Amino acid sequence: MLRCSGLPQRGKPCARPTRSHTGGEMTILATKTDPVRPTRAADRRDKPGGSPGDLPSSEPTWQDELRRAVRDPRELCRLLALPREFEERAVRAAPRFPLLVPRGYVARMKPGDPADPLLRQVLPLVDEDAGVPGYVADPVDDAAARRVPGMLQKYHGRALLIATGACAVHCRYCFRRHYPYAEGPKSLSGWEPALGEIAADASLTEILLSGGDPLVLADDFLAKLVERLTAIPHVRRLRVHTRLPIVIPERVCDELLAWLTGARLVPIVVVHANHAAELDESVARALARLTDAGVTVLNQSVLLQGVNDSEDALAELCERLVELRVMPYYLHQLDRVAGAAHFDVPELRGQELIERLRGRLPGYAVPRYVRELPGMPSKLVLA
Ligand code: SF4
Repeated sequence: MLRCSGLPQRGKPCARPTRSHTGGEMTILATKTDPVRPTRAADRRDKPGGSPGDLPSSEPTWQDELRRAVRDPRELCRLLALPREFEERAVRAAPRFPLLVPRGYVARMKPGDPADPLLRQVLPLVDEDAGVPGYVADPVDDAAARRVPGMLQKYHGRALLIATGACAVHCRYCFRRHYPYAEGPKSLSGWEPALGEIAADASLTEILLSGGDPLVLADDFLAKLVERLTAIPHVRRLRVHTRLPIVIPERVCDELLAWLTGARLVPIVVVHANHAAELDESVARALARLTDAGVTVLNQSVLLQGVNDSEDALAELCERLVELRVMPYYLHQLDRVAGAAHFDVPELRGQELIERLRGRLPGYAVPRYVRELPGMPSKLVLA
């Protein structure tokens, strides 16, 4: 799942760049300074024949939601009427990895409950400052997998592009919270080395867009990048790893569906939800737009202490996903990233939970429980 100016950068105070969209420049649409402007989709929505999933044009666009996301821990704690001490601790912990959470996601949290499973994923805690042995800046050794700037390869046949350093939400357990995003390409021309590497390697049949979150980038930029990938004959599949449809469901708009389904490449979207409470009706509509458009949608979760480390929580998540035609794909063991030790669930407990799920759900609804180990030819299946 990478930071770029406009959004709070990990460990740096929030910078407000203004970038105009020029040619191949990657435009990050999350600055507070830009005037709110409707997208083209907004004009079409109130025209006859708009599809049932379209929202009335008064609805905010995804760019609006990204701009108005909560970035101040004080504001988050007050919105949720949390006890004062949580506000003070969050303010102390935030500078290391700034808070960022969309208001629509906050609206799914239970007010007054510091243990809310959605809040726990985004609220800065002083626990993050604890130096715990074995928890490091690059737990999955991304550095060793780097082929050229912005391109990683860990497994045969597929390569991953770190499309941007920006996200729409800052997940406190993020395995890339210390990733050196500034080294990545900043424009379409900056992707030439990676595109050249892919074109020269016929074994690469699948390209993953990851980050950070690739869907914070503008659709016209993503459409151009996908066009370049489509021009490489041996590339057959495009996989997009994203949390946007979960945290800002408005992101699933006409422009996104146009480049995602308009190319020769088979589109696969891997979303990232960790708890059933994240999957409300607005998310259900967004996911339905993807599956109705013929996109294969999978979900990956992280097993997180205090979020989904119970049989009921995992069963409800998996059943809700299947209900939304999204296949539970992976349940990841937490990557031991510095600052996230308080989320760790012992593997034995994880294996026990998966065994219980198998006794309760159909096989297709139970995700594979995996851990990523550097240098392995595939993820290690734990259960
Ligand atoms: S969405 Fe969350 S998990 Fe994914 S890259 Fe961003 S901060 Fe990390």
